[in-house]
Amino acid sequence: MREEHRKVTLASWPTPLEPAPRLAQALGLGPDDLWIKRDDLIGLGGGGNKVRKLEWTCGQALAEGARTLVTSGAPQSNHARLTAAAGARLGMDVVLVLAGEPTGTAAGNLALDGLLGARIVWAGAVDGAGLATVLDRVVAQLRERNAAPALIPFGGSSPLGALGYVDGGRELLAQAPDLATAVVALGSGGTMAGLVRALGEDRVLGVHCGAVADPGHTLGLLLKELYAPSPAPRRPRLRLDQVGAGYSSLTDPVAEAILLAARTEGLVLDPVYTGRAMAGLVAAVREGDIRRGDRTVFVHTGGLPGLFGHEEALRRAGEVLSDRTV
Ligand SMILES: *Cc1c(COP(=O)(O)O)cnc(C)c1O
Repeated sequence: MREEHRKVTLASWPTPLEPAPRLAQALGLGPDDLWIKRDDLIGLGGGGNKVRKLEWTCGQALAEGARTLVTSGAPQSNHARLTAAAGARLGMDVVLVLAGEPTGTAAGNLALDGLLGARIVWAGAVDGAGLATVLDRVVAQLRERNAAPALIPFGGSSPLGALGYVDGGRELLAQAPDLATAVVALGSGGTMAGLVRALGEDRVLGVHCGAVADPGHTLGLLLKELYAPSPAPRRPRLRLDQVGAGYSSLTDPVAEAILLAARTEGLVLDPVYTGRAMAGLVAAVREGDIRRGDRTVFVHTGGLPGLFGHEEALRRAGEVLSDRTV
């Protein structure tokens, strides 16, 4: 697959790998054991993991002569926001099909979608299949109008998009050759799938965030394509215990992990993805799945704008603040 496609460059590489000694010690690890891969610092449109995938999917769209990028997601989709940024950078129009109804004020990612010049089509209260139906209709309309649309997959997670994290995994391995475990949030699956392809299944721990119904199945389909014609690994390391009541709920362990990272390292996590991944890391250390003396890398996949679009996280932050007023 790699040979058939050209990728475009949307940011500067490599992203930094930084030590997190105070957080490591707070978790019971040695001070040199825990490092952070700063993909939140990817310098396009507020940053985050989706940019690596967009380098491949936008490269293909351009090669096919597309002039409009179309994708779908939740109202606070980081992927939608970064597709808007990629479109701006490449001089392409962007249409985002988002689940839900128009909101009065645009918070978090939605505000950035607007600033970046994307047009938004609200799909109403739909499930995944309903969203796909609206998306197909929008693509057909754009085609009729000669807007040359290219469909960017949900979360950017086609096998082609996942190549961005095969690149990312190799970049990480050059920075941390003795890596034992990379911990990463699992949403639509492309990030973890690419990392597994680059690092092997034993060295990647994925933490399910509730973005897809069956993460093992979603991941398996991507891995199958990434390994073909060889057989894909069958036992990826997955934690399914950090979702709570659903995608946009905020559990106590996740809220605590967010506070811990902020107060030990000045590292800001988001409630939907990186907060869950950090809570999964905390649990993995507690259970002995991640051990003192081994090199662990937490992949910071971005998502900060989502913090400012998440009512429950903002309410909790307000409570913390009133506790600490002097
Ligand atoms: C989308 C996203 C993820 C998950 O990546 P997938 O490739 O969809 O699994 C993790 N963190 C953040 C901040 C994201 O926006």
